[in-house]
Amino acid sequence: MGSAKLAQVTSRADPWKTYRVLKRVGIVSVVFLFLMFILVTIGQLDMRSQPFRVLTFGWIVFGLVMLTVTHEVRCPRCGQRFYAKGAEFWQMTKECLHCGQEKYAEVSSGPLSGSHGK
Ligand SMILES: [Zn+2]
Repeated sequence: MGSAKLAQVTSRADPWKTYRVLKRVGIVSVVFLFLMFILVTIGQLDMRSQPFRVLTFGWIVFGLVMLTVTHEVRCPRCGQRFYAKGAEFWQMTKECLHCGQEKYAEVSSGPLSGSHGK
């Protein structure tokens, strides 16, 4: 009888896992970009060289993938896109653009309170 409930609990273990992974990847990529910038500054990396072009291209592709993944991340509370609402896309938001669920805060279960039901 309790199996359905158990599955629900398991899936709710860490609703922010994707967000944390994205954040870590984001930090690593910024550090990487910073290192590249330093290498160019101290003359260890030629901006006209082939490796630099490959790195730059890779970074642009990586950035686009990150943007797409971030755009598609769903809110654990209302199930809608956390960072996007229609044409609006705000990557730095700290709460869901739809239901106002705070990032990394405990997800309140059950129906949304204060929703404009009939
Ligand atoms: Zn939401």
